[in-house]
Amino acid sequence: MSLIQLVIYMLELKCDDLTVEGQSLSGISTYFRIRELDLIFDLGRCPIAFIGTNHVFISHFHLDHYFGLPIYISQRWMAGISPGKIFVPADGLHQISQILDQISKLDCNSLWTYELIPVQPNDRIEFRNNLVAYVLPLTHRVTSVGYLICEVRKKLKPEFHKLSGSEIAALKKSGVTVTHQVELPKVAYLGDTSTIPMNDHPLLAESPTLISECTFILPEDRKKAIDTMHLHLDQIVEIMPRIKSRNVVLTHLSRRYDTATIQQTIFSRFSRSDQERIKLLI
Ligand SMILES: [Zn+2]
Ligand SMILES: [Zn+2]
Repeated sequence: MSLIQLVIYMLELKCDDLTVEGQSLSGISTYFRIRELDLIFDLGRCPIAFIGTNHVFISHFHLDHYFGLPIYISQRWMAGISPGKIFVPADGLHQISQILDQISKLDCNSLWTYELIPVQPNDRIEFRNNLVAYVLPLTHRVTSVGYLICEVRKKLKPEFHKLSGSEIAALKKSGVTVTHQVELPKVAYLGDTSTIPMNDHPLLAESPTLISECTFILPEDRKKAIDTMHLHLDQIVEIMPRIKSRNVVLTHLSRRYDTATIQQTIFSRFSRSDQERIKLLI
């Protein structure tokens, strides 16, 4: 695939009730949008279609993961759209803010308005009426975080399950709280990392869709994965029995592999039932 094609070509992958749009190639650019959740994971480039999406979750400050931010911010600013919420690793916030201000001055001799929100591992962020994001710790050459998105729903408390509608209504009227909140995982995103934070949130393994980097896949590239702090396919194979995700979307493949090598190598490592769960977005 040529670089020109990379710029204009965007893939769309259906994962149950979610549509993952975007593309990811190691060192070139990574950007995904999930329209149904009004969010973007990483913004290595910013397709015009992404401008109206209101929440951006950045994994780390390597160029191929955030360089679409000036386009996202300036296009909204010029169109008079209120700033989107941009979640970024806390320890890069000051620098990225300075960079954005400098680009803004260079671009229009003015300052764009934008909203950067610092995040740290273990944060719980309520970002829409019914959606929360948990920040997951990753390990990479710079600070990197993953995100687990959950839907918050109100459910009838188990002790009231056997009551009729009118009995529940009467309880409510008397001031009894008959519901409690439950969180249902929707999608998890692991940007660049050398480790998979399986033990850092109990719902990660339950997420119906897991989007994960998988930069290196061949046995001879194991050392390269360690040196550059990226995942190797071996690690995905190892965790597959622990994760229940119906959609395991592998991304961020190294440019050293052609499409045929990627498909053959990856699918040869999984059982038939696991092959059905694996999807490639490259
Ligand atoms: Zn990357
Ligand atoms: Zn990186």
